[in-house]
Amino acid sequence: MYRTHTCGELRAANIGQSVTLAGWVQTVRKFGSITFVDLRDRYGLTQLLFGEELNKELADNPLGREFVLQVKGEVSERTAKNPQLATGDIELKVVSFKILNKSATPPFTIQDDTDGGDDLRMKYRYLDLRRQAVKKNLELRYAVNRAARNYLHENNFMDLETPFLIKSTPEGARDFVVPSRMNPGQFYALPQSPQTFKQLLMVSGYDRYYQIVKCFRDEDLRADRQPEFTQIDCEMSFVEQEDILTMFEGMVRHIFKAVKNIDYTEKIQRMTWEEAMWQYGNDKPDIRFGMKILNLKSAFTIGGEKPANGGLINGAGFGVFDDAETVLAICAPGCSEYTRKQTDELTEWVKRPQIGMKGLVYIKYNTDGSLKSSVDKFYSEEKLKAIAEAAGARKGDLILLLAGKEERTRKATSELRLEMGKRLGFRKDNEFKLLWVLDFPLFEYAEEENRWVARHHPFTSPKPSDIEVMIRNNPVIEDADKYLEHPYNHIKANAYDMVLNGNEIGGGSIRIFQRELQEKMFAALGMSQEESLHKFGFLLGAFEYGAPPHGGIAFGFDRLCSILGGSESIRDFIAFPKNNSGRDVMLDAPSTIDDKQLTELSIQLNVKGENA
Ligand code: ASP
Repeated sequence: MYRTHTCGELRAANIGQSVTLAGWVQTVRKFGSITFVDLRDRYGLTQLLFGEELNKELADNPLGREFVLQVKGEVSERTAKNPQLATGDIELKVVSFKILNKSATPPFTIQDDTDGGDDLRMKYRYLDLRRQAVKKNLELRYAVNRAARNYLHENNFMDLETPFLIKSTPEGARDFVVPSRMNPGQFYALPQSPQTFKQLLMVSGYDRYYQIVKCFRDEDLRADRQPEFTQIDCEMSFVEQEDILTMFEGMVRHIFKAVKNIDYTEKIQRMTWEEAMWQYGNDKPDIRFGMKILNLKSAFTIGGEKPANGGLINGAGFGVFDDAETVLAICAPGCSEYTRKQTDELTEWVKRPQIGMKGLVYIKYNTDGSLKSSVDKFYSEEKLKAIAEAAGARKGDLILLLAGKEERTRKATSELRLEMGKRLGFRKDNEFKLLWVLDFPLFEYAEEENRWVARHHPFTSPKPSDIEVMIRNNPVIEDADKYLEHPYNHIKANAYDMVLNGNEIGGGSIRIFQRELQEKMFAALGMSQEESLHKFGFLLGAFEYGAPPHGGIAFGFDRLCSILGGSESIRDFIAFPKNNSGRDVMLDAPSTIDDKQLTELSIQLNVKGENA
């Protein structure tokens, strides 16, 4: 037997017992004639005490960091107890030891505060995984996994696997493809999600399906995206939107309770997509704090003061605002005392390329009721006060204003709101706020192609009241400049997203289940009949054989774990993640394959790849 106990198990109650432990040497400390070793395994750390009598043996068999060691000894009370450590009351007085395996000197210290940089830790991920901090994250991941499975099982969901070697499923990203040796010139695609399969399972009558499943999307890399990631993927038959919302609110509440011991009993807020966009500037608002976005364009331009230098009738001569498509503001509470340095720094912040604004205007609504702004030249104090009050500002607030083109300005204001929320401590890791965003638009306009694309995916149904609009109108956009006026722009989808602390953690929809409407949808997306049959003939065919009404949702499992773990990075919650350029630096993948393999696959390259 290699061990009688784990390294996290022994307590004062075990004092006097003879035990055997096995684990990794974390540290070796020599004090005169005695040696202390911290022995680590998955469960914790135990202090070992090697007495003088073992010195010769230690000298013959020196211990090093990360050696795998087996020790036999007696549990004894520690003189200097360590309350930080679960096993801190005891130590093991070693009687004999055996080195089970040696270790090269690890490239970084395997401790919470490691000295290893990101790249190094990724290259030696198997060592990084030994660290307590990483282990905790993977344990949390497993707890979320278990809680989701338990809940879904209790609710009659069946875990059914779906294939990975498939034909394209459109989720808006590029497919990863796999060449087929036996079918030269043909390729499988890896699923961007099991979307069409879960719908087929509904047609087959498995009315509650789930799977905790890998999805593959070849997207341009954005921070904290992984080309392969995990979803809790679910589908139900004979349901309306409300049934889905209720079922999965239940799942998330269950996960909160099981993983974090949080009773999330409050009602989960709901908001339409339009409200989210207007009030928060994005479709996944962080509602842990207010600071809603206000449109002050009319407040600034209508009835503006006529400035000394002439200026515009319908404005104040401040071109940045007068000529802007929109002027948006947030009120940062208690920030009127920001110094010049602080406002300058914020201005630099909005000018960063990621935010892309030309400048920032501020109005300080001082606690004494006076007002001071960066545009005092153009607006009287009275006017500023009226604007501040129109914006709902209170004494002590700092009003931050951005102006420009609608879409970009709204996005930037949303970013600024989140940044200020962070700086002001309104975005606490240990506070959780769930939100449903509903009524998304069904279509999005793709400028480069001058056509409609599905905002969610092409299997999402329109709101029943909009079906007629979709059927009756021609999808063709005659005048690209006027796409906003096209009736398709107003069609709402039976789609919903669950948002947690400003992150989309899940999204889904009620599906189309009639062949005719599905064909109409494909046509609306600019697909010819031939193309839709080639790509989705199997689904259209299945809809001919009694497809039930159905709908579903998928949760981003990695993201959910990272939020519950209080981290911004999903990588920390994946055992073997890729780096930000999509590489596995440990395996050194992707890499070239040899000519023989290429020949077998009937593939000729027109670039000669080189292994990194
Ligand atoms: N397949 C969708 C996605 O991956 C989720 C769903 O509609 O159920 O986003």
